[in-house]
Amino acid sequence: MGMSRQIYLDHGATTPILNEVLEEMLPFFKERFGNASTFYKLGREARQAVETARERVATLIHAMPEEIVFTSGGTESNNMAIKGTAFAMQDKGNHIITSAIEHHAVLDTCEYLQKFGFNVTRLPVDSKGLVNPSDLEDAIRDDTILVTIMHANNEIGTIQPLKELAKICNEHEVLFHTDAVQSIGKIPVDVRDLGVDMLSISAHKIYGPKGVGALYIRDGVAIDPFLHGGGQERGKRSGTENVPGIVGLGKAAELAKNTLEDEMKRLTELRDMLVRGILSIDDTFLNGHPEKRLPNNVNVGIRYVEGEALVLALDMKGIYVSTGSACSSGSGMPSHVLTALGLSPEDARGSLRLTLGKSNTKEDIGYVISTLSEIVADLRAMSPLTR
Ligand SMILES: *Cc1c(COP(=O)(O)O)cnc(C)c1O
Repeated sequence: MGMSRQIYLDHGATTPILNEVLEEMLPFFKERFGNASTFYKLGREARQAVETARERVATLIHAMPEEIVFTSGGTESNNMAIKGTAFAMQDKGNHIITSAIEHHAVLDTCEYLQKFGFNVTRLPVDSKGLVNPSDLEDAIRDDTILVTIMHANNEIGTIQPLKELAKICNEHEVLFHTDAVQSIGKIPVDVRDLGVDMLSISAHKIYGPKGVGALYIRDGVAIDPFLHGGGQERGKRSGTENVPGIVGLGKAAELAKNTLEDEMKRLTELRDMLVRGILSIDDTFLNGHPEKRLPNNVNVGIRYVEGEALVLALDMKGIYVSTGSACSSGSGMPSHVLTALGLSPEDARGSLRLTLGKSNTKEDIGYVISTLSEIVADLRAMSPLTR
C-alpha cells in the first residue's frame, strides 16, 4: 500500500485516549475491581480513586468536589441538567430559554419537555454564531426557570459571551446551564468566574474514555434525579459507579489542565495556518467567528462542491474530517447550525469541519492544504454545480 499516512482532523467528534489515561484506568477493570460503595479495603480503594477523580475534575473548572456528579457523558449531563431542573422547579414556572445552535442533546431535550407543558424559546444567533445578550434579557419572563446556552459550538467553534449571559440570568434569578463539552480542555473554564449554575463535561472529547462525563451543579441548586436506586452520587445519580471510566475522566482532566496553555497556543497557530491555506482556494469562506472561536476549530464553506464528496475524497488520502456535525450527518438535512447563521442550503452542504488536536503537526497542515486544493479542483472540473 505504500502511503499509509493518516491525519485525524475530527477531534470535535472524539479523541483517542492518552496512554497515561489508559494506564491509570486498567487496574480498575481487574485487580482493583471493588465496588466503591463497599467498606472493605478493595471498596475503599475504589472510593478513593473516584474521589481523586472528582477533585481533578473540580480543579479543572474551579469548582468544589461536592459539586461534581459523574454521568455517562455529555448527553446525559445535558439531559440531567435540563430535565432535572425543569421538573424540580415546575411549581415556579415552565419557561426555558436556549439557542438555535445547541447540540441535539440540548435541543431535543428541550423539545421533549414541551410534551410536559414547558414552553421553549430558542434565541437566534448572528451570522458569526453569537447570541445577543440583549435578546436573552428580552426573552426572560416571570415564569422563566432555566437558560441553557452552550459555551463553544461543536460545528463552528464560536465562543459565546458566557459571562455576560450568566450575569443576566443571575440578575433575574434564573438558573443558567452551559454545555461546555467542546470548550473544556481547549480554553480556560472557570465556573465561578463565568457565574454558571450547571456545566456539562464529556471525557471522550478530552482524550479520555467514551461513556463517561460529569455535570457541575453549583452548591445549592436542586435537581430531580432521573436514575433512582442505590443513592450514589449524593442521590443525584444512582447506579454502581463506572470506576475505570471515572478514573479515566479524572486523569484526562488533570492532563488537560497541565497542557491547556501550551496546546491553546500551538493549536491556534495551526488553525490559523489551515484557515489561511484553505481560504487561498477560490470561492471559499470561513463559517463562524474569526476571533471568538475555539483554537482547534476550522469550518469552511467550499462553493460548487458537495461536502460529502470532499469527505470521501479526503478519506481516500487518509485525511479524516467531517461535514458540519457528526451527529446530524447522514440525515441529508443541512446543519441546523449553519442554517441558523443564514447560510443557503447549498452553502451549508458544501461546508467542512476540521478539528485539530494533539497529534496534528505543521507538516500535516501543509499536506492537508495541498491535498484539499487538488481535490477541490478535480471535483469542480467534474462538477455539475458549475459556476
Ligand atoms: C460530543 C458533544 C456532546 C455529547 O457528548 P457525549 O459524551 O458524546 O454524549 C454534547 N455536546 C457537545 C457540544 C458535544 O460536542
